[in-house]
Amino acid sequence: MHSQVSDADINGVENKLKSLGLEANISRGVERTIIGAIGDERKIQKESLESLPGVENVIRVVKPYKIVARESQAKNTVIDIKGNLIGGKKIQVIAGPCSVETQSQMDAAAQGVALAGCRFMRGGAFKPRTSPYSFQGKGVEGLKMFRQAADPHNLPIVTELMDVRFLDDFLEHGVDVIQIGTRNMQNFDLLKEVGKTHIPVILKRGLCATLSEWLMSAEYIAAGGNHNIILCERGVRSFEKAYRNMLDVTAIPVLKKETHLPVIVDPSHACGKTWLVPALSKAAIAAGADGILVEMHPKPCDAWCDADQALTPEELKNLMGEMRGIAEAVGREL
Ligand code: PEP
Ligand code: MN
Repeated sequence: MHSQVSDADINGVENKLKSLGLEANISRGVERTIIGAIGDERKIQKESLESLPGVENVIRVVKPYKIVARESQAKNTVIDIKGNLIGGKKIQVIAGPCSVETQSQMDAAAQGVALAGCRFMRGGAFKPRTSPYSFQGKGVEGLKMFRQAADPHNLPIVTELMDVRFLDDFLEHGVDVIQIGTRNMQNFDLLKEVGKTHIPVILKRGLCATLSEWLMSAEYIAAGGNHNIILCERGVRSFEKAYRNMLDVTAIPVLKKETHLPVIVDPSHACGKTWLVPALSKAAIAAGADGILVEMHPKPCDAWCDADQALTPEELKNLMGEMRGIAEAVGREL
């Protein structure tokens, strides 16, 4: 409360808390009176207390997210996807092209992913493009091509869902991991729908989302009953123009402290340049990431999307070797 507060103001806050079903603990100091709200404060609107007479500041003590908070589960969440664990000791690398283009491109990509020793494959059938005139993805036909390419190698498939109207197609084609892209991190209706399924979800960080906003989005999915959530840091908007986005490496240990969910990193969309991908991948693993989501194309110069950030199959294989060394140095396996 303000330093010159009246008893009426204090009573006003106390009554408001009681009307919300909370108890008030009033502590009168020499300079300040502090009112502690006792009970589940998550349902309170901070602003409605802030606007009461005599209130100087309202501070939340409890985190706004619940299920995904480390407080509610000390043990790391480990997600089993067709026998491959994400969030355990083993670091998982999810590799593949930015977008599904043709069957032969996907077949070659799947072979490259498997030969490099990766256990998951990525590829977008629905693409969120800045320009409406750019290639928008192959759609449902792309899901079929993806499945056909990945199945002979037993690679679980990771692909982006942009629109709830295609959720049934994702279920029909047995998509193993649904990716919610950066642009949809706060598409709350989409989050609610994937929350009703039990399919693991990779939730990418919004272009300029705070960690708290990101975790609240994860909470939307968890609140629906789906706790199989993987957070993916993919770089945030910054003032720097030398690379596509700025990889927030600090987010990795902070998230590990704040949540029990697995955290992976997409170095490709963070930097936008092939030559930078190995450095960022190794930094991510050193900082404690549980996995990497990386773009690889059988022939990057022919890629229909994000050609300048795709690794070749050979580069992916080399990177796997380099990452293995880092993983072992930090007590993990690859
Ligand atoms: C992608 O991974 O294909 C993608 C579009 O990434 P982001 O949502 O991070 O931009
Ligand atoms: Mn891409």
